[in-house]
Amino acid sequence: MNDTPAISVEHLSLRYGGVTALDDVSFAVEPGSVVGLLGRNGAGKTTLLNCILGLTAPQDGAARILNCASLNLTDSVRERLGYVPQTPELFDWLTVQQNLELIGRFYKNWSDEYASALCARMSLSSHANARTLSPGERQRLAIVQALAHKPDLLIFDEPVASLDPIARRDFLRTLFDHTVEAGRDVTVVLSSHLLEDIERVATHLLFLRNGAVQCFANHDEVSENFQVVYSAYRLDRRTRALHTGEVANGQWRSVVDVRTFDRSALHSDAKMSRVALGDLFEAFNT
Ligand code: ATP
Repeated sequence: MNDTPAISVEHLSLRYGGVTALDDVSFAVEPGSVVGLLGRNGAGKTTLLNCILGLTAPQDGAARILNCASLNLTDSVRERLGYVPQTPELFDWLTVQQNLELIGRFYKNWSDEYASALCARMSLSSHANARTLSPGERQRLAIVQALAHKPDLLIFDEPVASLDPIARRDFLRTLFDHTVEAGRDVTVVLSSHLLEDIERVATHLLFLRNGAVQCFANHDEVSENFQVVYSAYRLDRRTRALHTGEVANGQWRSVVDVRTFDRSALHSDAKMSRVALGDLFEAFNT
């Protein structure tokens, strides 16, 4: 068992003028985790991923990936890294196949066979010209490029934003197969607004708001620690509910942290149930 975190982030802070993009962010990701990175537009997700990748320098704090300082990545660590940016950059004057061949030259572990298999799984024609690809097809090609050298750490910044439902399903299946077939710990960070996808694949959840970490926990712990309470009565402040909103039929739905929640103020009709990621997202962001 490898105890060194795949990613460690300590006290990262970054401001753009009057905007706080990252606010004292610290966490560590165990190898083999799949982290779902969640937050509203402008929460700081891309900035955080860029700092982790060493593409942006923070004003305070530091990040390390695969035991190497992000701002000073070695070639051997780059070799073990796969990244899909929010807006993929391709060589537009080349075909899909030529794009893959060109990128493949930078990686010792690149497999042409695996790249072809990934193209087939992602329904991507290798003869198409990159310039003619739709936004979703460009994203699929970026995904193939990120996986074909069999990296140990994958960073995806909203990889499925322009994918249709079938392509999204193919991506999630490919990602799952990739981590299983690797036969070793593959760590994934996936930022997405599609909570259903995160719900399906993430072992850990990281909620960002205004650049600060609101919650970083194992998905199972999150399911145990946060619950929804339905009641005909609005929960009062003494219960320390995170968020309360009115739903149909005069019912109130509240998200509570069971570790701090005061049940003594609950009405007898109250029913507690499993929290959906959407409820938690709303609770953390309102
Ligand atoms: P989205 O979900 O819309 O992609 P995000 O969570 O990825 O958003 P970031 O792109 O990290 O958010 O931006 C965080 C904040 O930092 C935003 O308020 C954004 O306007 C600001 N910001 C990011 N990059 C810059 C920049 N280069 N110059 C100025 N402000 C920036």
